[in-house]
This record gives sequence, C-alpha cells and structure tokens, in this order.
Amino acid sequence: MRRQIVAANWKMNGSSELVQQLVPAVREAVSALDNGPQVVIMPPSLYLGEVKAQLADSSISIGVQNVAQWQSGAYTGEIAAAMAADAGCQYVLVGHSERRELFGETDEVVAAKVSRILASGLQAMVCVGETLEERDSGDAEAVVCRQLEGALAGVSADEAVNIVIAYEPVWAIGTGKTATAEDAQAMHQAIRDKLVGLGLPGNAMSVLYGGSVKPDNAAALFMKPDIDGGLIGGASLKAEDFIAICQAV
Ligand code: 13P
Repeated sequence: MRRQIVAANWKMNGSSELVQQLVPAVREAVSALDNGPQVVIMPPSLYLGEVKAQLADSSISIGVQNVAQWQSGAYTGEIAAAMAADAGCQYVLVGHSERRELFGETDEVVAAKVSRILASGLQAMVCVGETLEERDSGDAEAVVCRQLEGALAGVSADEAVNIVIAYEPVWAIGTGKTATAEDAQAMHQAIRDKLVGLGLPGNAMSVLYGGSVKPDNAAALFMKPDIDGGLIGGASLKAEDFIAICQAV
C-alpha cells in the first residue's frame, strides 16, 4: 500500500547511549504528529532489543539493515529474515549500495534476500541507485531499471504490497550532494513506470528518496508527487534533524 515513510538507516553507527538518548525523543515527537509518516528505525541488529523496548506501544516500526539469502544453518555471523521477524521487525533494508559495493551483493543475491524477507512476512525496503559515472554517461535510468528487474524477479503483484523501493543515487550518499527535487521526481516516475512494466502495482507502492536528506532539503523532496518519504543516513543519528525530517512529510 502506498504510504509516506521516513526510515532511519543508522548503518554501523550508534551505541546503547545513543539508543537511550535518541529513541525516546523521536518517539515523543512522532507521537505528536497529526497524520505523520510511518517512521522506521533500523539500528545495528545488536541494538534492536533496546530500540524495541523504547518503542513499546508506539507507532514507530523497527527493521534490520540486512539479512542472509539463506533460511538457516552454518552461516557464521549471518542473520536470517525469520529471525528479524521473530525479534519484532517489520522492515528489512535490502540491496543498499554499500552492500552491493563493499560486500559484492549482486542483483541475484538481492532477489534471493527479497524472497526470504517476503516469506518471513516482512516488508522489504529495496534500494536502487546509480553511481556518478553512470549518471554522467546518461545511464542512470537504465541502471535503476536493471536493478529493479533483478531485485524483483519472481515477485508477484500480490507480494508487491510488502515491497518499498528506496531510490538512493550513490553519489548523493553521505556526500552532502542531494539530487535536485526535480531529478529525484523524474527518477521516481521512471521507477513507477518500470514497476508497472514488470506487472507490479507501481502507483500503489511507496518509493522513497535517500541520499543526504537533511532538514533543509526534505520538504522540497517530499512535496514531489512521486516521492513518498525518505531513507535517512547521517541525519537519522541526530534527534533534532531526524525529527525535523519526519515533520517535513
Ligand atoms: P545519508 O543520508 O548519510 O546520505 O545516507 C543515505 C543512506 O545511504 C541511507 O540508506
């Protein structure tokens, strides 16, 4: 179902101290919002329990930043989608460009993870996005479409209600360079068209923008008709900034 979402990807940042300080502040501010977005916090997995405890009886959801493509077994260091569900998660981030780049995740691996996530009853937040080189050579849309096709291979129209797309241009992640609201809107529209082309309900699915979203650029991005919210990295680690972004939806 298409809904407005603001998701925090803490990446490999944070501590118990940050959980204790940031999560209650976000919780209080989000509960005061009228008609606010669905807020999702994705801390490093070790802090899930602490974050969940701080969010008891709140509307904020929790998620993990990655799961394994396997169901269970001898995969030292990995976490299964079923475990994320068991631990109380509703969302799993999958295919983040840092995973693709630093951990060699291919479209096939991303697709296998998506299938595990859906089988565990969770929402898959599927990340796509082009590099600067790809944008400069005019291939941005083709790259994003290929990533969508790869990640969603085998996903049915019925299952698509449990898929959220996050468009994160790689060159905008952690760089302070955001796509202009117009460029982001154009890509979001292209993403919806591609989803429809894949037989999925593209106009009923949430498509988020990520990449240097800050309090001062969030409103312009979120105002665009095909941008349903944001996936926030750096600014999600500061209560004041993250709250301001949630309020901008
Ligand atoms: P920044 O907001 O730090 O650019 O990170 C975006 C991101 O990668 C979220 O997944």
